[in-house]
Amino acid sequence: MKKPVEKKDADGNITRYCSLCAKYLPEAQFYTSTIQKKGKRCKTCMIKTNVARRKRTHNRYRIMLRYLRDAEKKKNGEKVSMNIEERDIRYVVKDVWHNQSAISSDDSHLSLIRWDKDEPLTPWNCVLVTKREAREHNRAKRPMKLYSEDQISNIQSKLQIVKNELFKPVRMFFAPFE
Ligand SMILES: [Zn+2]
Repeated sequence: MKKPVEKKDADGNITRYCSLCAKYLPEAQFYTSTIQKKGKRCKTCMIKTNVARRKRTHNRYRIMLRYLRDAEKKKNGEKVSMNIEERDIRYVVKDVWHNQSAISSDDSHLSLIRWDKDEPLTPWNCVLVTKREAREHNRAKRPMKLYSEDQISNIQSKLQIVKNELFKPVRMFFAPFE
């Protein structure tokens, strides 16, 4: 049976139903911005679910980084040189590739690959694809043969933008001759 949204408590004060903890709570326990919405949740429940969601996405980036590192290890043994960190992964996955495969636009079972095998692994050499596409890419001797010219040029131009954004050449300071 559906619970009424509002109910008066014994003292005649209005209480609202939280759909998550399944309790009637005083109105002050709800954010006013959520009161109009269906499936209202109390403040405590909203904070809890937000924390859980943040943890989940955080884990997702960590897993992707690990996958990338494992693939690199498979190819290069223990000598893995990666210029990429967890916070880069978030940027690359979310902001650059919008949580979908750069090849198929598929948005499930995603992982990152080193795009150009001859270049080091950096955020501007990192492309989001599905796990299956990643396997094919990593196995292929010449991975660029797997893609159309359009796909390649789209991806390259995006990577160039990332590079422009992130790449800071190391400044060289020369001590003046004495
Ligand atoms: Zn609640």
